[in-house]
Amino acid sequence: MKSSQDEVHPLWDDFCRDLEPVSGSGELTALKDKYLSRSRGLVSLELRNLKALSPQNRSEAGRQLNALKARVQAALSKRQAEFKEREHRLQLETEQIDVTLPGYHFVQGGLHPLRQVWREMEEISVRMGFTVMSGPEVESDYYNFEALNIPTGHPARDDQDTLYLANKLLLRTHTSPVQIRTMEKQDPPLRIVVPGRVYRRDATDATHSPMFHQMEGLVVDEGITLADLKGTLEVFLKELFSADTRVRFRPSYFPFVEPGAEVDISCIFCAGEGCRVCKGSGWIEIMGAGMVHPRVFQMVGYDSEKYTGFAWGMGIDRIAQLKHQVDDLRLFFENDLRFLRQF
Ligand SMILES: [Zn+2]
Repeated sequence: MKSSQDEVHPLWDDFCRDLEPVSGSGELTALKDKYLSRSRGLVSLELRNLKALSPQNRSEAGRQLNALKARVQAALSKRQAEFKEREHRLQLETEQIDVTLPGYHFVQGGLHPLRQVWREMEEISVRMGFTVMSGPEVESDYYNFEALNIPTGHPARDDQDTLYLANKLLLRTHTSPVQIRTMEKQDPPLRIVVPGRVYRRDATDATHSPMFHQMEGLVVDEGITLADLKGTLEVFLKELFSADTRVRFRPSYFPFVEPGAEVDISCIFCAGEGCRVCKGSGWIEIMGAGMVHPRVFQMVGYDSEKYTGFAWGMGIDRIAQLKHQVDDLRLFFENDLRFLRQF
């Protein structure tokens, strides 16, 4: 007679029938629950029923049930592994990468041509020993005019075409207020450049914009002379344009300097021969400069008997126009990518 130990429990056939159509992990979990759940699994219930049997039958039936449980568990694990394998294969198929396909090309951004020139001017200045400073674009009348020797009623105020805000504030018309703010905080010697946005009440056209960019420079120390001003600007302009650039000074007037000068460079397009850009003169006006007016020093508490200095200011946009031969200023502000991509 065959021992009951060798006989397969009748539940095994039921389980095999149930397992056959299972096609996913969810169904498999439900099946596992049906047979092995501790509280209501069919195998678990059978095990619980063992208590009712005689000790002799109990051990036989117990062995049989435990063997069934092990077979069910093994069969479930095997099917689970098959599902995993199938999933993995599917994933490999759907996520296949063809390494011979051409890559994606991303459009890379670049610095705006004005920012490029701004940075170049800053870098030259830093190499020459200057510190780059910045200051507020919303200014008081004092810093924009008064402290720069442009008192109320001064004709230079009309020239500036200022954009006024509420509470006696205004949009700075030049970067020069930063000179005052710096001198108030620091004693000489001083060597600073101030690049930044400035504002004027100008209508937009090929050469004007209500917002444009300036870079200002200031040097203060004992014994600074006009020769230092000329030498410094010559070095700067030769670096910025080319080594054979010639520089010329023409007497001019700005309230915050004495003496003051307009600075020209030899035309970079015709090397001084005379062309359309320089209107045949061979020279291009590039900036204003001069020796700091003693009254400006007095405003910030510097001893104007002991210290002298020079200052200059030039338009970053104008330099960019010259360097890149762009004859309409508006092109820099319209942000047409067809234009910007050329730089
Ligand atoms: Zn020329």
